[in-house]
Amino acid sequence: MLQDRVAQVREVLRRESEAWGRPPKLIAVTKYSTPEEIMPLLDAGVSDIGENRVQAIREKLPYLEGRFSIHLIGRLQSNKVKYIIKDVCMIHSLDHIELAREIDRQAQKAGLRMPVLVQVNIAREPQKGGVTEEDLLPFLRACAAFPGVHVRGLMTMMPLNAEREIISGYFVRMRQLLDQCRQEAVRDTDMTELSMGMSQDYDLAARYGATMVRVGSALFR
Ligand SMILES: *Cc1c(COP(=O)(O)O)cnc(C)c1O
Repeated sequence: MLQDRVAQVREVLRRESEAWGRPPKLIAVTKYSTPEEIMPLLDAGVSDIGENRVQAIREKLPYLEGRFSIHLIGRLQSNKVKYIIKDVCMIHSLDHIELAREIDRQAQKAGLRMPVLVQVNIAREPQKGGVTEEDLLPFLRACAAFPGVHVRGLMTMMPLNAEREIISGYFVRMRQLLDQCRQEAVRDTDMTELSMGMSQDYDLAARYGATMVRVGSALFR
């Protein structure tokens, strides 16, 4: 049952994050799930969900609105920002300045300041989005020019099928990057959130300092 799987994931998160004082927030990734499958999450105490497509958010919104906080976790095209700006609580995939500019424009129009995470391509995979480590600080400084964009931390995705030792190394590096960015104290940023870990590796992410994990298939098998 979904409730049991949520409880199992939560138990792993609690155990692995003991050294950090607080477990990461569980974001249930619902991209393969229908509204009927999503609703029982509420009974399990999960109200944060992740979707990776604008179209899917639009379609499911009538069911989710007012019940769930929706995180946009996938790649976002600038011309689609306007369709979700009022409906998501955070955008996890900011990785180029044109997108920041458009989020700023639409956020200001909607009278809000959009919480975003900067996606880092820590494994330097050519097919993946995200800024490189070297570009991260200049990118954060450039984002500070946009009052409608509130940078709240970093997000990353691991290579598929990588070994656990490799993944652990990337997670450790991401936590270092977050702490470095916080020390740099870039104006108007608030580097406290670290979104990393999926079904295959959320235990490692919790161990190495994630503040949010994005778990789909481990909950909705
Ligand atoms: C699908 C997806 C997830 C969840 O993946 P699972 O392996 O099903 O847990 C997490 N993050 C992003 C960006 C995704 O697209």
